[in-house]
Amino acid sequence: MAAKSTDDILRNEKAMEQCYENLIVIDIGANLTNKKYSRDLDSVIQRAKDAGVQKIMVTGTSVKASKEALRLTRIYPGTLYSTAGIHPHDAKSYTDESWNELVSIAQNPECVAVGECGLDYNRNFSEPQEQRRVFRKQIELACNIQKPLFVHERDAHEDLLEILGEYSSRLPPVVIHCFTGTSEHALNYLDKGFYIGLTGYLCKDKSDKGVRKLLVENTIPLDRLLVETDAPFMYPNTRASKLPVHVKDGLSERSMTFLHRYCTFQRNEPCSLPAIVEMIAAFMNKKPEEIALSTSFNALKLFGLSQ
Ligand SMILES: [Zn+2]
Repeated sequence: MAAKSTDDILRNEKAMEQCYENLIVIDIGANLTNKKYSRDLDSVIQRAKDAGVQKIMVTGTSVKASKEALRLTRIYPGTLYSTAGIHPHDAKSYTDESWNELVSIAQNPECVAVGECGLDYNRNFSEPQEQRRVFRKQIELACNIQKPLFVHERDAHEDLLEILGEYSSRLPPVVIHCFTGTSEHALNYLDKGFYIGLTGYLCKDKSDKGVRKLLVENTIPLDRLLVETDAPFMYPNTRASKLPVHVKDGLSERSMTFLHRYCTFQRNEPCSLPAIVEMIAAFMNKKPEEIALSTSFNALKLFGLSQ
């Protein structure tokens, strides 16, 4: 093999650099129907694209929000996709009539998952019994139309596993979105073949047996990992005092510019996703490109997002 010329090497390095500067990532969960974006959604989406967020899944958390999320996918085809579901907080709003509407929203090709659905015993905005009933309805829907299930779980690990277990023979792929549990819980989910979605919660987690442990110990296989902002929530506070120095050092100037210029605790944006990817990479002791590539590939494949 001929030796590479200095020019070739330089050209190669330049290409690598560009690749690094332009992490291509997919945000599998952003609440873009939130009223916080009603005045400047166009700019929010443009910024996300400039930051390298190529596609965004808009979370449907109620029948109304799912309808609105679907509407947005028609305004930004090929960039936005939606989910259709009823958040456990909203379980109490369930009616048979609105359910039929949700079922028809879920059939659309731009709607790529059923959810956000699940159990939240942390806040119990809806009665646990109500939550379980509405969760089951959505699992059945996902089984019937074979679209992935986008799941929210807070302080309800055992019940969630048990309920999903009842459907194990028919279950489509399951994503535990915005995972905030212990590494032991994550292992149980991975054992069932579920995917794990990580957010800026990473900065908030101060425990020594949670999300960080998962990453440091390389417990999540790269083919089960997905990334999301959960915007406007879950602002990745890269200034958190407990964030290790090597993780802070792993953040690029470019991603910090997007984060600090456009995102706040009150209103996170999808353009913060590259910063999250860089932190995950630093915790896992891997290159950000590797995390970007695997999580994008997983999202494209799992949700069937068109290229
Ligand atoms: Zn959630």
